[in-house]
Amino acid sequence: MARILDLGARVELTAIYPHFHDISIGLYQHTNEGGQVQFQVHSYSARQGVDNCLRHVAASMVLLGGMEAAGGNGHTVRFGCGGSHVKACRRVFIEACKVPPGEALQAKPLEIFDKKTERKITLEKLSDKEAFRVTADGVEDGKARRIAAVAGGLVKLADLAHVEGEDSLVLFPCSGGHDALVGLLLVRALNVRAAMREQDGAAGRGVLAAPSAQQQ
Ligand SMILES: [Zn+2]
Repeated sequence: MARILDLGARVELTAIYPHFHDISIGLYQHTNEGGQVQFQVHSYSARQGVDNCLRHVAASMVLLGGMEAAGGNGHTVRFGCGGSHVKACRRVFIEACKVPPGEALQAKPLEIFDKKTERKITLEKLSDKEAFRVTADGVEDGKARRIAAVAGGLVKLADLAHVEGEDSLVLFPCSGGHDALVGLLLVRALNVRAAMREQDGAAGRGVLAAPSAQQQ
């Protein structure tokens, strides 16, 4: 008997999940009765073990994205602030789908070595608000440009706001609690073009097959 699911709108798709029989896994967004935005990891595959696989992806999203579990099925997550941050969440999902089962995961730090310019890039959290300042070490030549590019990458990847007149400052438009999330985004903000290509590629590789169409 077919399951009837109210999943909400699909916001991202991994057409070929490499760690479990190449199944397709989608990310769905819906709003619960309390007005909180939730994201559900779902697959139409009926393979044995798919439940564990979806739990693994959701648990990786919690760790990598600083999200929290929502509901009891182990497949649903949300941001603690109750906001949607849908663009950021799509990125968290894409990264979570790369994590092999059994790998010990840690949230990403707020600093990274930028191979392209051989600088250490750091995100400084401003204490009075959910703003982060991008800083870099190394020579002055080209530094401001690189900082602006990384901050611009964060804005693009996650719909963060720029603080007016401040090329190095980005801001979450919510109550925050997103240190892990912004650490994860920082990795991708170093090469935002590749990250956007990856996202478009995942979406372009096909649609999530309905149960009848998907190979078991
Ligand atoms: Zn938020």
